[in-house]
Amino acid sequence: MTQTPRLDGAHHTVAVIGGGQAGLSVSHCLGERGVDHVVIEAHRVGHEWRARRWDSFCLVTPNWQCRLPGHPYTGPDPDGFMARDDIVRYLEEYVAASRPPLVEGVTVTRLRRKAGGVFDVTTTAGEFTADQVVVATGPYHTPKLPRTAERLPAGVEQVHSSGYRNPDQLPAGAVLVVGTGQSGCQIAEDLHLAGRQVHLAVGGAPRVARFYRGRDCVAWLDGMGHYTRSIDGFDDADAVRLRVNHYVTGRDGGRDIDLRAFARDGMRLYGRLIEAEGPLLEFADDLKTNLDHADAVAESIKDAIDAHIEAHGIQAPTEPRYRPVWQPDEQPATLDLTAAGVTSVVWATGFTRDHRWIEVPAFDGRGYPMHWRGVSSTPGLYFLGLPWQHTWGSGRFEAVGRDAEFIAGHIDASRRLADVCGTLTGAPSALAAALPIG
Ligand SMILES: Cc1cc2nc3c(=O)[nH]c(=O)nc-3n(C[C@H](O)[C@H](O)[C@H](O)COP(=O)(O)OP(=O)(O)OC[C@H]3O[C@@H](n4cnc5c(N)ncnc54)[C@H](O)[C@@H]3O)c2cc1C
Repeated sequence: MTQTPRLDGAHHTVAVIGGGQAGLSVSHCLGERGVDHVVIEAHRVGHEWRARRWDSFCLVTPNWQCRLPGHPYTGPDPDGFMARDDIVRYLEEYVAASRPPLVEGVTVTRLRRKAGGVFDVTTTAGEFTADQVVVATGPYHTPKLPRTAERLPAGVEQVHSSGYRNPDQLPAGAVLVVGTGQSGCQIAEDLHLAGRQVHLAVGGAPRVARFYRGRDCVAWLDGMGHYTRSIDGFDDADAVRLRVNHYVTGRDGGRDIDLRAFARDGMRLYGRLIEAEGPLLEFADDLKTNLDHADAVAESIKDAIDAHIEAHGIQAPTEPRYRPVWQPDEQPATLDLTAAGVTSVVWATGFTRDHRWIEVPAFDGRGYPMHWRGVSSTPGLYFLGLPWQHTWGSGRFEAVGRDAEFIAGHIDASRRLADVCGTLTGAPSALAAALPIG
C-alpha cells in the first residue's frame, strides 16, 4: 500500500531498502512474524523490469519458478515465460495481496550505524532510525561501459542494454551488439528478427539448451537438485558468484539461442572487442573458442541429464545431440563501422554494484558485502537478492523467497533473543547467529 512519505524522525524496528521482488518478499515474511518495518522504494514497484528491460523481454526461467512467499505464480502457463509487462503485473499483484508498508518515490541516500547499534537512514524524504536494516536494492546498479566506447565516432549512436527498447529506437543501418550474456544474445536476436544487419562481438558466456529429452532443461536441473546446491559447497565461491549466466531465451514459448544459426542466416560474428580507434574496431582471435565453449557447456549439461535419467530409470524420449550448423571460416579481426554501415552500438556489457551510500564497514576490499546467507558482518545489517547469496536462485525469482524467509527468521529470532537477554539494538543478530534457523 503506497503511503504519503512522512519519514523524518520516525523509528522502525526494520527498514527494508528496495521494493523489488527481494524487498517485497522479506516484507511479506516480516509481516507474517508481526515485525514492524517499512519498505523504502526509490521509484515504483517493478521499476527494474518496467524501466530497464526491452519491449520483447521475457524471463528465461519458467513461470513455475516464480514463487515469492505467499504469492506463487498461479497463471495459466506455468511452463511458459512471463513477458516484461506480465512480470510488472505479477509484482503489482503481490503488493495488492500483501499490502506491505511501502513508501515509493523515496531514495535512501545514506546509511550509517550509530554508537549503540541503531541505524540512521537518510532519505530524500527525511531521516529516520531503525534497529535493523535489510538492503534489497538489487544486484545491477550502474550500467558498465568499456572506455572503448569513448573512442567511437560521434555519429554512431550508443546505448547500454538497460536503455535498449526495440529496433525502431535505433537509427536505420546496421547495428553492432557487444557482449553475449543473456542481454546481448536476446537483443541481437531481437534486431536480427526485425531484419537489421547485426554484427555481434561474442564473449565467453556459456549456453544451455532450452529443451532436452522432452522437458525444459531447467525442470531437469531442478529435479537433479541443482538449484538447492549451496554456495558453501563450492571451493571457488567467489568465482561462482561472478559467473556469467548461460544464454537461452523464453521468447515465443522458449527456444535455444544458437549464434551459429544466426551467423548462417546473415549475422556477422566476431571475437571479443578489444580496441577501437574511430570507426575501426579490433577483435580478439577467440570467436571459434567462444562458440565451441558455449556448445561444450550446453552438451555437458545434456550429459548430466542423461546420467540422471539413467540413474533413476526415468522414461524419457531420446534426442539427437547438437551438431554445429555453421563454422567461422576465418576469424574477422577488424570491423570498419563506416564501411559496414553500422550506425549504432548496443553495449550488453553488464552492470556494476554501487553500495557507496552504505557507510558501514561491512564490505571487503572489492566492495562486496561480507555476509553469510545475507547476514552481514555488521550486527543488524542484512542483504537480500545478491546473485548466489546462498544458491543459484538467490538473485532470481526461484529462491529469493527462501532467502527472505531465512533473513526474516534471523531478524525475528534476534529480537526474541533481545527480549530474553534484555539488551540491544543491532547486536542481537550476532548473538542469534548461533541459533538453529532455516
Ligand atoms: C537482463 C536480465 C534478465 C533477467 N532474467 C531473469 C529471469 O529470467 N529470471 C529470474 O528469476 N531473474 C532474472 N533476472 C534477475 C533478477 O530477477 C532481477 O535482476 C531482479 O530485478 C532482482 O530483484 P531485486 O528485488 O533483488 O532487485 P531489483 O529488481 O533491482 O529491485 C531493487 C529495487 O531497489 C530500489 N532501490 C535501489 N537503490 C535504492 C535506494 N538507495 N533507496 C531506495 N530504493 C532503492 C530500486 O528502485 C529497485 O526497485 C534478470 C536480470 C537481468 C538484468
